[in-house]
Amino acid sequence: QMVRSVYPNLMPYTCALADLPIEEMKKALGKERVYKLSFNENPLGPSPKAIAAMQQSLAQLNLYPSSSGDAVQAKIAEKEGVHPENVILSNGADEMIILVAQTFLEPQDEAIIPQVCFVQYLASTHVMGAKPVFSRMKDDLSIDLEDVLQKITAKTKVVFLCNPNNPTGTVIPADEMKTFLQRVPENVLVVIDEAYHEFAEGDGYASSVELTKEFANVFVIRTFSKIYSLAAARIGYGIGQAELVDAVNHVRPPFNVNSIAQAGALASLDDAEHVASSRENNRRGKQLLHRTFDELGLSYLKSQANFVCVDTGLEGSEVFDRLAERGIIVRTLNGYGLTSHLRVSIGLPEEMEAFALAFKEII
Ligand code: PMP
Repeated sequence: QMVRSVYPNLMPYTCALADLPIEEMKKALGKERVYKLSFNENPLGPSPKAIAAMQQSLAQLNLYPSSSGDAVQAKIAEKEGVHPENVILSNGADEMIILVAQTFLEPQDEAIIPQVCFVQYLASTHVMGAKPVFSRMKDDLSIDLEDVLQKITAKTKVVFLCNPNNPTGTVIPADEMKTFLQRVPENVLVVIDEAYHEFAEGDGYASSVELTKEFANVFVIRTFSKIYSLAAARIGYGIGQAELVDAVNHVRPPFNVNSIAQAGALASLDDAEHVASSRENNRRGKQLLHRTFDELGLSYLKSQANFVCVDTGLEGSEVFDRLAERGIIVRTLNGYGLTSHLRVSIGLPEEMEAFALAFKEII
């Protein structure tokens, strides 16, 4: 009786094999070596510069961190060509998603969410007691902006988009995004989650940060968890016009990003070389996956992120189990009704080779 009435609607917290920390995976599978290709993490680990900076920051753990993370804020602003007042930090992009929901969604509101998309938009909408409205995907499983526009009603408060999209890896072409934004009513907030931005390499993709200058209703989300490999440190950020950022700042808890994460993020932004090697590892990993899937005659989605979505042509969960028996953990997409697809994160070359070998045995 004590919990809010929206809580029974919440999705159960999943504890499937693919969601376990790697040490738990090893225990569950009784294996010493597990290839964790289920979380879209950067297998190269954080930049050595970030590790050194984080280690140094430990000596001052007695002091509260900068509440707004002003040094990181300023550095991001400089890099992205915006002002510090356009940047807000969060405890991972996940916190930014819930902060946006808390700031803008009320129970009578609707939030539009692409059907095959990152799950936290749905979770955060549910937490606020607002109504999720799903937009359909195109045949190639990319986000259908035309359908999003069709679904906008007087009740629509937020549209969540993910670009490049998780779990498909597809992108919204820059020209389509701009035309879309011109047609969205000004009172509808468009959240564009660019968690995988740094892995995208052209082919129509462009960040929407520049568009935040033109459109007061656009809010871009980024993270240090992916290319910068600081997933456990928990730091992400949002970019938008000052009024938007200010509104979210009213909801943001003080000191939401700890000083270790701030130190790591700051140093990461200085290590272009590490970003370049992460991109290179990703490119090679994807090439190996593409070759493997081509050899097997399987179709896969063209991904601009650090994972590839493949149609196994079999029961995805069975292929998952067979891979798990061999110590390889990927992700099924049954929750989206894609029962034969799997999402495979890009790991180290040896992990990709192990995956390819096992996958060929199974298929
Ligand atoms: N957005 C997307 C699209 C993601 O895939 C993820 C992580 N899987 C997040 C946000 C959350 O990232 P973070 O670790 O920064 O909370």
